[in-house]
Amino acid sequence: MAEMLTVQLADRSYPIHFAAELRQEIRAELEALGRTGRKVAVVTDSNIATRQAQALGEIAAGAPTLVLPPGESTKSLDTLGRLLDFLADAQLDRSSALVAVGGGVIGDLAGFAAASYLRGIDYYQVPTTLLAMVDSSVGGKTGINLKAGKNLAGAFHQPRGVFIATKLLATLPAREFAAGMAEVIKYGLLGDAELFDQLEPAPLSLASPELPAVIRRCCAIKARIVEADERERAKEGGRALLNLGHTFGHAVEQATGYRRYLHGEAVAIGLASATRLSQMLGHVTAAEVARVDAVLSAHALPTRLTAALPVTQLMAAMTRDKKVRSGMLRFVLLTRLGESVTRDGIPPRLVEAVWRQVGGI
Ligand code: ADP
Ligand code: ZN
Repeated sequence: MAEMLTVQLADRSYPIHFAAELRQEIRAELEALGRTGRKVAVVTDSNIATRQAQALGEIAAGAPTLVLPPGESTKSLDTLGRLLDFLADAQLDRSSALVAVGGGVIGDLAGFAAASYLRGIDYYQVPTTLLAMVDSSVGGKTGINLKAGKNLAGAFHQPRGVFIATKLLATLPAREFAAGMAEVIKYGLLGDAELFDQLEPAPLSLASPELPAVIRRCCAIKARIVEADERERAKEGGRALLNLGHTFGHAVEQATGYRRYLHGEAVAIGLASATRLSQMLGHVTAAEVARVDAVLSAHALPTRLTAALPVTQLMAAMTRDKKVRSGMLRFVLLTRLGESVTRDGIPPRLVEAVWRQVGGI
């Protein structure tokens, strides 16, 4: 049975549908568009086109489909141009809709293309990675990478609907599943102690019967946060809380040229780091730091750098992060496991000490 959750954003509200399979629901939605004369196009990557050929065929059902190369380098200005040209060649008009079938790369790129094509058309998200299901497909942040850094060009553009069909995860590589789990653990730490407690004795795998419920729970947390602070403008807390572990994590990704770690792996190191910073500030105990490390490890995630990096390089990468507000380092800290706050003005020496604890030299 399909379940549904609504992201409440006034005239931009939209449903997130959940089920093992959603091909019929997606078909019904797209055929309804077709009946009113609205065109649909689909974008995906070649791994999904190969590994999920049948599902993709049923979703696209003859609609013009662009299959892009897999990988982060697809989130580029070049590929955005290619996608926009494809939409124009397929003669999509202002009433048309784009369907993104893929992970965060395809979803972010397609969302940005939909935000900018003819100054904005509708789009739908059909996430195929755990990370995209719990995080990037919901909330309307779209964008591409520039040479200067990740996600430096983009737009807020909410999808019209998100279809989370957990069976699509069956072909996802184990390392990608683990990377998605870092974001799941993030949700537990930032605002759902019960979720964290649930993961502690029973690490999730692709085969866990609880997985669909956990994905729904993460989407519900994200939906509530996005509803309250859609554009991340709250002075404190708000959408920025979703960046728990990301100030550290982005620095790790940047310092390693986005090659050594998957985003989720860098976020795992970031969560271990943010918990340590919270401990230094007296909010959590050494035992709680150990609990966070244990949950990350139990999900096949790193809790420290797998090869040492200079602390100076990591600190420099941090100050280049776009989340930095007018030169001040801003962190999401835990007040306890399951509760978080944003804090400015953290002394750099504490941050350096954290880096040394997780393998910086
Ligand atoms: P993320 O969702 O983590 O941001 P990507 O969009 O880059 O990352 O997807 C991660 C990798 O997994 C890519 O190589 C992509 O082609 C592949 N992939 C995505 N979904 C599936 C799936 N359901 N089955 C197999 N491979 C997939
Ligand atoms: Zn993330």
